[in-house]
Amino acid sequence: MQTLPNPIQTQSPSSPTVSTTIERRKTRPVKVGNITIGGGHPVVVQSMINEDTLDIEGSVAAIRRLHEIGCEIVRVTVPSLAHAKALNDIKQKLNNTYQPVPLVADVHHNGMKIALEVAKHVDKVRINPGLYVFEKPKADRTEYTEAEFADIGDQIRQTLEPLVISLRDQGKAMRIGVNHGSLAERMLFTYGDTPEGMVESALEFIHICESLDFYNIVISLKASRVPVMLAAYRLMAKRMDELGMSYPLHLGVTEAGDGEYGRIKSTAGIATLLADGIGDTIRVSLTEAPEKEIPVCYSILQALGLRKTMVEYVACPSCGRTLFNLEEVLHKVREATNHLTGLDIAVMGCIVNGPGEMADADYGYVGRQPGYISLYRGREEIKKVPEDQGVEELINLIKADGRWVDP
Ligand code: SF4
Repeated sequence: MQTLPNPIQTQSPSSPTVSTTIERRKTRPVKVGNITIGGGHPVVVQSMINEDTLDIEGSVAAIRRLHEIGCEIVRVTVPSLAHAKALNDIKQKLNNTYQPVPLVADVHHNGMKIALEVAKHVDKVRINPGLYVFEKPKADRTEYTEAEFADIGDQIRQTLEPLVISLRDQGKAMRIGVNHGSLAERMLFTYGDTPEGMVESALEFIHICESLDFYNIVISLKASRVPVMLAAYRLMAKRMDELGMSYPLHLGVTEAGDGEYGRIKSTAGIATLLADGIGDTIRVSLTEAPEKEIPVCYSILQALGLRKTMVEYVACPSCGRTLFNLEEVLHKVREATNHLTGLDIAVMGCIVNGPGEMADADYGYVGRQPGYISLYRGREEIKKVPEDQGVEELINLIKADGRWVDP
């Protein structure tokens, strides 16, 4: 009798055929101040202050607060020429009292003059193709002729050219930031309210930049609905591949809201794309203080193994076998070790399944028998200690291994 080969027996468990590392899409490096987006650099974390940029002191303090907790590029809004000029003072004050921080300025409706002014003071200018040359939609319009379409295209080119030349000559960057909610009327007529319309909007601006030999471009295609945002970014990556373009992508879900759902919604959009290798910089937009956005960004990147900025804790959910108060112990272990960036520490409720499920953590704290826990280094059981000495002995073990640093 012929026996069918068992595929499990033909593979060694130590030589997996499926990669567990995210393969990032290859993108060109774009410099924004002293930070590089794309080109294989770590995914960059961004946020935005909500101070009025005319308030120089307040803006400098807010930028500094964000930068100190890990925001690598800070965005400011410039609704008027006065705001754009204020960026000069903000930049100077940061340089004099703190350090240079990569800044990006957001330019909105018909913002050509503002963009030209602010381009002198910041490292990147963000424009929205739907608003840069803004025409009030005509309520009675039933069609867009080819001539009308091309005419606005010419206006866009003329308006964009000086900004592109200024950024190109200063070695600065531009984000072409398309928003699903503010597509230009003629894009809506031609492509509808769709990911295709978003992608074509971005491509129209990219072509103008390229015709002027300007390539320091980052693209975003944000939407408040996750499936729309996912489709737009995926289509953009595909179209760029077809066209031989490799611009980095800035990921975000707009108007994600606040609290738990805001975080989950942002994560659903951003992490899904990052897991596919798409995305070079991220912003989690929350209706909360901007400082609250940074930990979410880092948690997404850490969970995907893209950046390691904190201790990775592995903990079982606890069950009937659990031999101690897992929530309490995990809290204690975290309090004692959360400054040891780079380590993986497991807290597992029982010896039956715990050691096997610690996912190759560097250290393990495992329930051994009532009143006792075992400490592990990797997969090796090092010692059994009374539960009330568990955390202290874990610290001693890390110290003995030379991997402890004082908080
Ligand atoms: S490791 Fe043990 S205590 Fe924790 S969930 Fe698994 S079986 Fe339960």
